[in-house]
Amino acid sequence: MSIIEVKKLIHDYLRYGEDGRVESSYRAVDDVDLNVEPGQFIAILGHNGSGKSTLAKHLNAILLPTEGSVFVDGKDTKDSEKLWAIRQCAGMVFQNPDNQIIGTVVDEDVAFGPENMGVPTEEIKERVEEGLKTVGMWEYRHHSPNKLSGGQKQRVAIAGVVAMHPKCIVLDEPTAMLDPVGRSEVIRAARRLNQQENVTIILITHYMEEVIYADRVIVMDQGKVLMQGTPREVFSRVEELKEHRLDVPQITMLAHELKKSGLDIADGILTTEELVQELERIRR
Ligand code: ADP
Ligand code: MG
Repeated sequence: MSIIEVKKLIHDYLRYGEDGRVESSYRAVDDVDLNVEPGQFIAILGHNGSGKSTLAKHLNAILLPTEGSVFVDGKDTKDSEKLWAIRQCAGMVFQNPDNQIIGTVVDEDVAFGPENMGVPTEEIKERVEEGLKTVGMWEYRHHSPNKLSGGQKQRVAIAGVVAMHPKCIVLDEPTAMLDPVGRSEVIRAARRLNQQENVTIILITHYMEEVIYADRVIVMDQGKVLMQGTPREVFSRVEELKEHRLDVPQITMLAHELKKSGLDIADGILTTEELVQELERIRR
């Protein structure tokens, strides 16, 4: 069974006038289908305003469909009785770590989620330890979150979600406010959760280098899925992506330009090593 199943999802944001009537509506997600299997690492790309966050908010029932449906671990998000089960299954990490940290000490903050779920005290301790160790923040358990770097705060936020034992974590531009070191810390934590704990990861980002490890990349444009495939498939379509003013990884672009200038280089080069291999191959 898919862990996430989105069927013909439409989301309209409505604006109401003073008389309480709908004044206008804006279609932010327009007929999106998406299936995610347990243990997959999915990346979602797209411009600002392409509907990524709106889609993400459907994955743990923060928003409900205008039309279509969303199933999380087989549970319909429209079924209000399943709300807590859905939220527990699909944890969310947002862009700004400062809005997600509540505790005055790191370990208290991580305990907050499981406490709210009614997890017994002894087990909370275990989960806090597990969560903080998973993201490499255990040594900071007695620190004040205020003094941490952005990347460290974001890892504490992830530990808090991990402590709720979700099957799936949706990260909505978790690295957008971080420096390169913080970004790689957060991505490493997400990949580790995926590879070692088999947690399904849905990563929304506009940093191309964060996408190349994904099992599948979904490109959104104006509320629709414009393309999807493996990173190599998607980044082979450089011209099409450029037409939609979307970036590709720098190394992919360089390989593409070399190919256009006449070198026999494969499409969809994702890493420096791959480009070096291609150049060595054609030199022989
Ligand atoms: P992204 O995350 O890709 O930047 P969003 O899902 O945040 O895109 O937004 C998609 C579109 O919906 C944008 O045009 C945005 O202005 C609009 N939008 C987002 N949130 C709201 C809201 N609460 N009310 C009305 N319009 C919204
Ligand atoms: Mg967004």
